[in-house]
Amino acid sequence: MTTKYQFSTQSIHCPNQDPHGALTPPIYSTVSFQMKNPGKLTSHYDYTRSGNPNFDQLSHTLAKLEKAKYCSVFSSGMAAITSILSSLKSGDLVITEKELYGPTYRIINQVFQKFGLKNIALDLSQQDSIKKIKRYQPALVWIETPTNPSLKILNIRQIATTAHQAKALLAVDNTFASSFCQQPLIHKADLSIFSTSKYISGHGASLAGAVCTNHSKWKEKLDFAQKAIGLNPSPHDAWLTSLGLKTLALRQEKHQKNALAFVKHLQQYLSLPHKILKRLLYPLDPNHPQHHQAQKQMNGGSGIVTAEFTLPLTTIKKLISSFKLFILAESFGTPESLVNHPATMTHSSLSKKERQKAGITDGLIRFSLGLEDSQDLIQDFETTLKKIL
Ligand SMILES: *Cc1c(COP(=O)(O)O)cnc(C)c1O
Repeated sequence: MTTKYQFSTQSIHCPNQDPHGALTPPIYSTVSFQMKNPGKLTSHYDYTRSGNPNFDQLSHTLAKLEKAKYCSVFSSGMAAITSILSSLKSGDLVITEKELYGPTYRIINQVFQKFGLKNIALDLSQQDSIKKIKRYQPALVWIETPTNPSLKILNIRQIATTAHQAKALLAVDNTFASSFCQQPLIHKADLSIFSTSKYISGHGASLAGAVCTNHSKWKEKLDFAQKAIGLNPSPHDAWLTSLGLKTLALRQEKHQKNALAFVKHLQQYLSLPHKILKRLLYPLDPNHPQHHQAQKQMNGGSGIVTAEFTLPLTTIKKLISSFKLFILAESFGTPESLVNHPATMTHSSLSKKERQKAGITDGLIRFSLGLEDSQDLIQDFETTLKKIL
């Protein structure tokens, strides 16, 4: 299919090879594919661990959306991450952004470290840290942008250029932004990895992940990892993800609209004399510290808003457990709005001191704005806050 189409068209119209012309293709729930004679395949599939039409449908569409030559799909975001890390070798150094999705940090330092992988974490929003990349000579640099939960925006192009000067590759975890808001390969990243369990599938109903790249050697490595380690998704989850992907553009527009309305509402609390709100973070808010960089490399702001309140922990806990519409749960990118308390949930494995250093205070709340009516969401926030205070 041509690439001249815009994002929303491209996400809906993918190649249709169904012999019956089914608009929604079937789920190829099969382990094996019949061979013509030993070694001669009917099509190019033999065994679902190493390939399945549902995987190809999803990966072709994702590659187009990420402006990538290749894409491989996996059973989860963590399986996608495993496919990359398992392609490195003992003694290789991975420089990671300091503010990393917890399980990514854990798999590097508690799983792959046992096999000789080395890790140095740096704050890559700082120029002097970016300069250090050359000195350390890593095999791979690994970032997320926006970061979780502080929504720091890192300069993908600058970090990629520096990594390349050091003969290293840059991997960007694109889960928070999703392919709609950001296409890291355009900014010279080598690998764009993401969990499709969040915005891409969009309904919180299927777990899967993907890696996009323009390097044919890396496509081979990713596919090798898929079959050698068994990182393939289920055909059903790949099918569900393809279905969800068709409405990604529509959903992201609404997530952003709701996030902007919520930010606008919360801003009044920043200027009250007895401040209950200390910091408000959203990439498209002109007050965001790296707003300029966000405008340069993002096509949208996504639906996550982080707010730091000055309220004591007990009040915060009561607040986040009392909303009617903001559901207290891990994850984001679902139709339902979710609320998360990083200090006791996603980042509870860090010590209090580490959390303080990373700016993850007890008052920090991460909101994932869903697809509900923005006025209802604001009302839910207001009523609950008034009741608690
Ligand atoms: C959720 C998430 C992952 C892991 O994805 P799973 O599908 O849950 O395995 C990786 N990176 C980021 C930034 C995430 O939010």
